[in-house]
Amino acid sequence: CACFGGIPGLANFFTAPEILERVYRETPSTINAENVRPQERYAAPEGELTLPAFYNTVYTLPDVVPVDYYAPGCPPPVELIGQAVEAIIKGELPPRGAVFASEKPLCETCPRQKGEKKVKEFKRVHEVIPDPEKCLLEQGIICCGPATRGGCGARCILANMPCRGCFGAPSNIVDQGAALAGAIAAMLESKDEGEIRAILQKVADPAGTFYRFTLPASLLKARVVKEESA
Ligand code: SF4
Repeated sequence: CACFGGIPGLANFFTAPEILERVYRETPSTINAENVRPQERYAAPEGELTLPAFYNTVYTLPDVVPVDYYAPGCPPPVELIGQAVEAIIKGELPPRGAVFASEKPLCETCPRQKGEKKVKEFKRVHEVIPDPEKCLLEQGIICCGPATRGGCGARCILANMPCRGCFGAPSNIVDQGAALAGAIAAMLESKDEGEIRAILQKVADPAGTFYRFTLPASLLKARVVKEESA
């Protein structure tokens, strides 16, 4: 989350008041007739209680302070944390700003068979049992491997689940979500606009899928909210 914003960074698709309204009023499980909201300060009999301010935008750590090294992943794998600790102990740190992970996209080290990159339809993971040997994307299951940094040991792939992009993009990709959208669009077999539209509609929550972990680090960063004119 410090590296790219993580899943909490998807909050940047909404404003802080929209999130508070949803969470403390609209969700089906909420009963809050008095419309109680979190307060930054509350005078309890035992003394003043405080909560951190809830900002409108989620930032990445490098947006706020200079960062020496990055250990990506949700969560960062034990092996990568071990490498980082070992590098510190041995005094063999890589150049400042380095990422403790691979520079190659996950697809390059993925053990699955890759064939013709053409897709007729997309399916969600609960709709099929994928062939454990073949590329998930070629089976029509959205996998973020083409635009995600490798180094995770392909844990999700080995569990027959698609990559969700938690390692962020390799450094030669500027915007992970845009790169994923491009890679997936290039795989569509059809040339018919209506058919393409129908196929893409099967991709549930495209923005939340392609930017699941990296929205605050992306070119989009956040939804732009225009001030209402008086
Ligand atoms: Fe492996 Fe996913 Fe890349 Fe296919 S798209 S090669 S399953 S990482």
